[in-house]
Amino acid sequence: MLEAPSTPLMRQYQSIKQQVPQALLFFRLGDFYELFFEDAVLAARELEITLTARNKEKGQPIPMCGVPYHSSEGYIARLIQKGYRVAICEQMEAPGPGKKLVNREITRIVTPGTATSNNLLTGHQHNFLGALHQNALAFLDLSTGTFRATLLPPSVGKEELAAQIESLNIRELLLAEKQPALPALHTVLESWVFDFDYAARLLREHFRIQSFDGLFPHSQSALAGACGALLHYLRETQKASLAHLELPVFFERNDAMVLDAVTIRNLELLEPIFSSDLGGTRQSTLISVLDESSTSMGARLLRQWLLRPLLDPAAIGARHNAVAELYTLTIPRTQLRDTLASLGDMERLLSKVTMATAGPRELHALARSLAQVPKLQQHLALTQATLLGGLHSQLDPEAELTHRILHTLSAEPPANLADGGVIQDGVHPELDQLRDIQRNSKQYLAQIEIRERDRTGIASLKVRFNNVFGYYIEISKANLHLVPADYDRKQTLVNAERFITPELKDLETKILEAEERILALERELFEALRQAAAARAPQIRSTAQAIATLDVLLALAEVAVRRRYTRPGFSSSADGAPGEYKIVNGRHPVVERLVEEEAARFVPNDLYLDHEKYLAIITGPNMGGKSTYLRQAALFSILAQTGSFVPAESATLPLVDRVFTRIGAADHVARGRSTFMVEMTETALILNTATARSLIILDEIGRGTSTYDGLALAWAVVEFIHQRIGAKTLFATHYHELTALEETLPGVRNLHVAVKESGEQIIFLRKVLPGAAERSFGIEVARLAALPAVVIERAKQILALHERSEDRIAHQSSPDGAHGPLQISLFEPVNGNLAERIRQLKLDELRPIEALQILADLQKELN
Ligand code: ADP
Repeated sequence: MLEAPSTPLMRQYQSIKQQVPQALLFFRLGDFYELFFEDAVLAARELEITLTARNKEKGQPIPMCGVPYHSSEGYIARLIQKGYRVAICEQMEAPGPGKKLVNREITRIVTPGTATSNNLLTGHQHNFLGALHQNALAFLDLSTGTFRATLLPPSVGKEELAAQIESLNIRELLLAEKQPALPALHTVLESWVFDFDYAARLLREHFRIQSFDGLFPHSQSALAGACGALLHYLRETQKASLAHLELPVFFERNDAMVLDAVTIRNLELLEPIFSSDLGGTRQSTLISVLDESSTSMGARLLRQWLLRPLLDPAAIGARHNAVAELYTLTIPRTQLRDTLASLGDMERLLSKVTMATAGPRELHALARSLAQVPKLQQHLALTQATLLGGLHSQLDPEAELTHRILHTLSAEPPANLADGGVIQDGVHPELDQLRDIQRNSKQYLAQIEIRERDRTGIASLKVRFNNVFGYYIEISKANLHLVPADYDRKQTLVNAERFITPELKDLETKILEAEERILALERELFEALRQAAAARAPQIRSTAQAIATLDVLLALAEVAVRRRYTRPGFSSSADGAPGEYKIVNGRHPVVERLVEEEAARFVPNDLYLDHEKYLAIITGPNMGGKSTYLRQAALFSILAQTGSFVPAESATLPLVDRVFTRIGAADHVARGRSTFMVEMTETALILNTATARSLIILDEIGRGTSTYDGLALAWAVVEFIHQRIGAKTLFATHYHELTALEETLPGVRNLHVAVKESGEQIIFLRKVLPGAAERSFGIEVARLAALPAVVIERAKQILALHERSEDRIAHQSSPDGAHGPLQISLFEPVNGNLAERIRQLKLDELRPIEALQILADLQKELN
């Protein structure tokens, strides 16, 4: 740290900087925000702006850089996006001529989790600030007021926690102590902030509640601690009213279908698995198909719904009823969506209103949006579905307030109050009068000019204005002898002199005062209006939420119409046994669209799983359509329980408590973990937590280790799911040997993706049919991928050799054939060894004579 030279300004800087050691301090100096010392070095690098120095001449240079006040928002946004915190320090008084040092104070602290400015937010996403206390996780979006709290399972690992935080879009996490495994930005607070007594007091005061019984059914101390820390932090950083925050809404993880972070990613619900530089695109996500919302409020809510599909059949049915009705109401649906599309982001506008940062244009936008509410009500009044009826009564157009705002603010108000012209004419008599003076001033001045020219006989006499002297009469040197006695000289120029008259002075005072007074009056009227709106925050918030819900239901109906979806049914048997999948001609919602975009046809497939046959093993060549078929089943359950229709001719589904996925190698390699370890950790989670009501999707297991290890593990996993869990399971595998399980395990059914062979070529039919695939077609697929012909031929020879020897081994070692040859060959160590040795041969490096020798050795061993 550089030693600070002791100027008063630098001492002031140091004392303010001490208050915010974790933030970059933007220190207001005139028209600039300046940064000093380490802050300057860092900001200059991150913002690519010039680093200069203050105090150079005195030999103790202080690194410094600055950004202009008027364009600071963009710079601040860039720093926040990079995960920094920024403290804004303003001049609290106008710098006067006599004053040495103006008073400065920190007015707000911007952090990733508390961002509210438009250039930091994405419309369709929440921006959450989280707090973790014991096993309670609370998170809130300052820009919308959304406030949630939940409890994490006691067993939750750091990895899963980190992944949850990421998928919830928590940008910053408040903690009592550092936890290195979490990716989100941490802000470490002193631990007393999380104390129940302190937190409880804050929450009671802020929300004016007596007890927490209605909020948190249990674990009150942990939950209140986390919620209280959030409130504490916002008060510290925002210095604004937080009246728009809703009461924290508690939810249990198990109230909804549980989707762990791995599954959310594997199924590409919101984000593509591969980042865009690895070829992933948003087009591959479920949300890209589903998001037909017309407002940002709806877009955000849809994402929340999708991450927490429902479990209660009545609640799901209510959503389906609403979607079904909107589906049939073609014209009202279009009109409703058009109306919604004209609305602003009312939640975010409202939070700016209550935090007193909304400008005239934003308040006007909020009122214009509210003014559309009666139109929505008209349409909803004609609907039958209970959910839609509920929305109808939840909507409140706030007629009085809206009328007042729209009849007070001018029709196209400026973004900033200081620009003037905010309030309409005819609202306030004094304002009108003042404006009259202002507007007529030009005319008065022109009149004075004409009259004085007449009076003095000086044709070149001019009435003018400048900032230093105000209004004056200018007379050229040649005419000075004609100047009347009542002119008062003010300034002498080379060729002219400037004068003032009492009349002009009077007018000047009136004009300047009028200007100032107009701005003051406009501010007063505007602030009263903004406060009136803020006072209705809870009602407006509730209306905005109803609009968001309506938007989501309309979006789901629109998708159903456009993409030919049907309403799913749910099967439940009287004895409470898990229901069944009976999907006729189902399609994968995302792949279907991608395939159609390439003018190809998506091949629909059926799926039947019930409590007798609940575990399907799917074999067939790579690229045959196995993964697509698997994910399709999972997406059906998620869509249906979210309230959406599904892409199928008809679909009956079980109510699923949780969807588990174990898929491919994904991008873990990039994260620096062994794929096999990841695979096994994910598999362990599934085997330890799945229930008979879960859906398990396994896309290859055991690929990350040697073939025999892998096959043995896969085999044992299937047995375990079959015997101990009984979950509906779809397992795609390249271990052809697993298909033998159909014989021994009654719940197992073999399926395969069909291909047509024509000569040496194969054609993918993408049809899923009963029974096991004949073989794996790996070599044919390799041919499609344009592997050199020599390699393909050689591979075929090796395969033939391998198959012959395995066959023989199998027959020799299973004289009775009771368990089928494959099982035996699998677990017989000698053969395993042999086959593995053949696999490991580096054929490219062998000379023919060596190969022959090895072959001879192998044969000897077998005989
Ligand atoms: P696998 O898991 O068997 O290797 P995928 O499920 O990844 O195969 O499918 C490979 C490709 O085939 C997909 O990217 C998709 O373009 C296409 N595809 C899959 N299923 C179908 C289908 N039912 N109809 C049309 N094309 C499909």
